Amino acid sequence: MTDERARREERLHCNACGQETRHDVICEHRQHGSEPIDTGNPLDDLSISWYTTYTMLECRGCENVTLRRTYVFSEWNPGEAQIEYFPPHLFRKKPGWADALPKDEQSVLTEVYAALASDSRRLALMGERTLVDLFIVRKIGDQGTFVQKLKKLEQDGFLSAKNRELLDAALNAGHAASHRAYLPERDQLSTVMDIVENLLQSDLLAKDVRKLRRATPKRKRHPSGEPKSATS
Ligand SMILES: [Zn+2]
Repeated sequence: MTDERARREERLHCNACGQETRHDVICEHRQHGSEPIDTGNPLDDLSISWYTTYTMLECRGCENVTLRRTYVFSEWNPGEAQIEYFPPHLFRKKPGWADALPKDEQSVLTEVYAALASDSRRLALMGERTLVDLFIVRKIGDQGTFVQKLKKLEQDGFLSAKNRELLDAALNAGHAASHRAYLPERDQLSTVMDIVENLLQSDLLAKDVRKLRRATPKRKRHPSGEPKSATS
């Protein structure tokens, strides 16, 4: 329980709630260090210093606890600080259906989310491209250029023309990330992930629909050939 007297409130992102919520500061600990600067003049009394503050925060909504480390160095601009959260803020949750993917795709998707958690956006984008590669090889085999493979996906009904265009953009983004050190913005990366996950999930849903069709009993027909209605 949080001590009422020490209660201090802050608004920050909660991984469990998936949004910004009110948090209580449960406890805080500060460490300080300093070092004299040797200017060669014994009369100079100069030093550098640093503070590290560890703050433990609890979400008022779901009681999720997070630790924040704030590092401040005397030589930085006023107000400047290095802030890290443990565990890192998750701006996107791995979809629940990911467990239904083939093992290799599951494992790449898990790595993509791990990269996302540490804001390694280039790595996440490269992972997305790998996911598309794996999907293409699984569905149509490893033949031709990317553009040809995407066209084939469209012809075979895995992709609409619109989604093929979107995916083409995603693959280009993945290519730029690995070859030209392009750093995608968080929302750009999010769009790429939406496209790729949409492709993977649609394929899983198609499988479910086929299973459902097989499991649904056929309607009995009248001798006339008309389907029998539920009331007759
Ligand atoms: Zn929460």
